Amino acid sequence: MSGRLQSKNVLVTGGNSGIGRSIVETFVGQGATVSFTGRDQATIDEVAAAVGEQGQGIRADVSDIASHKAVVDQAVDRFGKLDVFVANAGIAEIRPFVETDEALYDRLMDINVKGLFFGVQSAVKQMNDGGSIVLVGSVVSVKGFPGYSAYSATKGAVRTLARVLAAELAERNIRVNVLSPGPIDTPIIGRQGLDRGVMEENFVPMVPLKRLGRAEEMANLALFLASDESSYITGADLHADGGIGQV
Ligand code: NAD
Repeated sequence: MSGRLQSKNVLVTGGNSGIGRSIVETFVGQGATVSFTGRDQATIDEVAAAVGEQGQGIRADVSDIASHKAVVDQAVDRFGKLDVFVANAGIAEIRPFVETDEALYDRLMDINVKGLFFGVQSAVKQMNDGGSIVLVGSVVSVKGFPGYSAYSATKGAVRTLARVLAAELAERNIRVNVLSPGPIDTPIIGRQGLDRGVMEENFVPMVPLKRLGRAEEMANLALFLASDESSYITGADLHADGGIGQV
């Protein structure tokens, strides 16, 4: 089989749901071997069965910093050194700023920032020169939506981290870019306590393309950033947001 990621070896965090799942399936379809993490064994098994021999699911929590090395080792043992790392795992929680307590702040920071930071650090140590790192950010790093103070702070951190990593890793020709989704129709909507209808009512009027985005549309951008087609792009923050943060 040939494809745009032929002979690339990939590790995706949070590959058992939403955008991450679509990235795993798209990348396997383009010839990559893909290891992916998640917390829920049933959905990990479901995705692993769907992608077959080219995939491997690993149960791991990104906020467990000590587990990162073992995850990368397992990916490398099965398919060889990494060419691509996609730091996708993340959570969103909405709460007014004045009601945002330390527990919520810590939860978001531990998963979206600290987990991502040390995940990339472990991956980079076992990555081939010339690789690509994709950090999943969000349009909230450039737009202020009420209720998203702690979440937005995490995604702003992801965006700034990408600039430094791009500068440091350029000597190994490893590119680091951010993929920033707008409002996308995934299970994260329910996980923040919203229903899909409310999400549509709140966001779609602000989106120039007048709809929520689809996970596959994010996977297509991830594919471009992971592949050699984006060989002269590093340190960038590419938004796939229906225009909500751009127009
Ligand atoms: P989702 O809830 O469907 O998927 C999130 C994934 O992250 C799941 O696979 C989950 O297992 C994983 N995850 C969460 N916490 C984890 C942890 N502690 N350890 C390991 N895995 C963990 O949501 P999604 O919409 O697919 O979100 C993926 C990424 O996209 C997130 O980083 C999110 O912030 C970002 N994003 C989503 C939207 C949107 O509207 N859906 C918008 C902007 C950014």
